[in-house]
This record gives sequence, C-alpha cells and structure tokens, in this order.
Amino acid sequence: MQLLKDKIRNEGTVIDGKILKVDSFLNHQMDIQFFNEMGKEFKKRFQDTEINKIITIEASGIGIACIVAQYFDVPVVFAKKHGGTNMSTNVYESKVYSFTKDHYYTIKIAKDYIKEEDKILIIDDFLANGNALKGLIDICNQAGAKVQGAGIVIEKGFQNGRKVIEKLGIRVESLAIIEGFEDGKVILNE
Ligand code: 5GP
Repeated sequence: MQLLKDKIRNEGTVIDGKILKVDSFLNHQMDIQFFNEMGKEFKKRFQDTEINKIITIEASGIGIACIVAQYFDVPVVFAKKHGGTNMSTNVYESKVYSFTKDHYYTIKIAKDYIKEEDKILIIDDFLANGNALKGLIDICNQAGAKVQGAGIVIEKGFQNGRKVIEKLGIRVESLAIIEGFEDGKVILNE
C-alpha cells in the first residue's frame, strides 16, 4: 500500500537498529483518515472470505481493528494482557513472548466472546516473529473457531513471522513489508 510506505519513509524512525517507531500515525497518535484507507484495503483483500469477527490484542491492535471492523460490519474482540478483577474467569489463555519487551505474558479472551462457529480475521499492527499471532491462533483453536486470515499493517519480512503463521495454514496479508533497516533507514519491499 503506497500511502503506508510513504508514511513509514517520512515519519518512521528506527530504534536500536531493530524496532520501527511509527508513533505519529499508528502506535500513539492515530491517523484515522489513514486508518480508514487501511480498512478499505483489508476489506478489498478479504472480500471473498467469510468473516464474522475480528480479533486483535491490546493495546496497539485495538484502534486499527475497530476501523477495519466497520468495513466488515463485524464486532471486535481484543485479547487482554491484564485480566483485572472485572475480567471473567471463564477464559481461554495463551502465553506469548514479547519481542519488544523481551518477556512472556499471558493473553486472555472470555469464552463468551469466541465460539466454535466464528470465522475470524486477526488484525495486528506488526508481524515480527509471529508470537502474538500464534497466541491469538492458539486461543481460536481452543475455542474451535476458524481463523480465516491475518491482516497486518507492517510486516518485518526479515523476521520469520510469516513463515511461522503460513505453516499453520493461515493466510497473511500485510499492507507494507520491511526488508530491513540500514543506517537508521527503512528498506521497504517494492
Ligand atoms: P511478534 O509477536 O510477531 O514477534 O511481534 C509482534 C508484536 O510486537 C506486535 O504486536 C508489536 O506490538 C510488536 N512489535 C514487533 N516489532 C515491532 C516494531 O518494529 N515496532 C513496533 N512499534 N512494534 C513492534
């Protein structure tokens, strides 16, 4: 998606040679007009796929998942990382390794909000090693729901996330693929 590539080039910064910071439009401030363009693009790519629910992970997946959901006219369920006292105890859980924070955390979705008949589209901001997605897929499998695909805003093509997820038989659609970082610059797949 050309607009996204331009935004990554113009506004993205590289941290420690491995993390792309896109806080100006995706991960902190959110450019909603632009999110709508991404929503339309995901709808176009998955137009022939039956989807009745979008699943994502808090926090940074929620904004984009909500906008995308408007184009599919379906609800969004986000996996919680912090099950507070108001979280149901009747949950599916999965352990996820965080690439950016270098630790494990547990994600949870209440059994009320994911069912065997669900046809799921997973939406997330980044795909790196595929750990976040693997956790969400694990929860869908526990529920017996069908994962119809994964829609990713930015894929780090030099990490093995796509391979891991496609090996599970799941289609991955990314709006931009980064080939690597060089001298603090982002190299995008053209
Ligand atoms: P994975 O689980 O695929 O290894 O990593 C994906 C998750 O890590 C995403 O949900 C995202 O929050 C975070 N992440 C991985 N790489 C980056 C990056 O370069 N920039 C940002 N902002 N987040 C990243």
